[in-house]
Amino acid sequence: MRVKCLIIGSGPAGYTAAIYASRANLSPVLIEGPQLGGQLTTTTEVENFPGYPDGVEPFTMMDDMRRQAERFGTQFVSGIVTKVDFSANPKKVIVEDEQEYEADAVIIATGASAKYLGIESERTYRGRGVSACATCDGFFYRKKTVAVVGGGDTACEEASYLAGLCEKVYMIVRKPFLRASEIMQQRVLNNPKIEVLFEHNTLQLTGEGKVQGADLIFRKGEPDEEIRHIDIDGFFLAIGHHPNTELFKDFLKRDAEGYIIVDGDSPRTNVPGVFAAGDCADPHYRQAIVAAGSGAKAAIEADKYIKTLS
Ligand code: NDP
Repeated sequence: MRVKCLIIGSGPAGYTAAIYASRANLSPVLIEGPQLGGQLTTTTEVENFPGYPDGVEPFTMMDDMRRQAERFGTQFVSGIVTKVDFSANPKKVIVEDEQEYEADAVIIATGASAKYLGIESERTYRGRGVSACATCDGFFYRKKTVAVVGGGDTACEEASYLAGLCEKVYMIVRKPFLRASEIMQQRVLNNPKIEVLFEHNTLQLTGEGKVQGADLIFRKGEPDEEIRHIDIDGFFLAIGHHPNTELFKDFLKRDAEGYIIVDGDSPRTNVPGVFAAGDCADPHYRQAIVAAGSGAKAAIEADKYIKTLS
């Protein structure tokens, strides 16, 4: 299928790009990918997106964006992009190894995915007590004890959410302070169900067939270093994300962490006609509103680029 503008990803960046591209008469096709609505749908409530003074449920917000794009003619394709070829014009994008799209302009809005610590037992217990999404899996730990790893906004948000369901929540934080915003820190520190374990790292998870505990090291390398054990039923990772950009590595310049390198504050990549928007190209801000803004920029740039072709 031949299209003017193809968008990969269904988070705030992808949907906003679709709204702008469809209103510019580019008749975009948007490939929705493995997680409809993007990362935002793994959080509980969005309180900081302008226009929602009482907060909004993430699925509602993403569905609103999708319907807005649909209203102006965006076509949606469910599936995962398995291959791309940006070596010539038109650019080729292959979905699920079979459906081939040819596009004048491609907007990449593939977002980022949760990071894991990289310890052996994390793999052993994945799906049996280890999770990277409290909203998805928290329900299974009602009235139980869990740990959340990380000291950023995600960790605080996950810990607060889990405290609403669980008996007790530990936060395992490697530094002597939290990195999260002040308001999120206060929510955690004032919650009697949450115990923050500062200066702790996880050595391993333990348990018979499922997570039942974790061995932690307190103040590693210091004279008062100590191994401590906590009994837990669930272990939630909230230590950041890595960008979903592997697929593009043969064509696009990326930084050491895999974020797509764009030209200054524009969404232009090193390949003319290929644009990157949202968290796949943003190691700094990683906010829905910022992603949405960059999606708008990408569609405006795609429109300009397509006009140069005729
Ligand atoms: P961050 O990068 O902000 O925080 C990651 C946390 O994980 C840090 O405390 C970091 O520790 C810790 N960490 C990283 N690697 C390890 C490791 N190997 N072992 C132990 N701990 C580790 O990621 P977030 O996902 O929390 O947030 C990303 C961005 O999204 C931020 O800009 C944040 O503000 C934003 N955000 C905003 C929300 C909101 O406003 N509602 C909600 C969620 C996210 P250290 O501090 O030592 O580096």
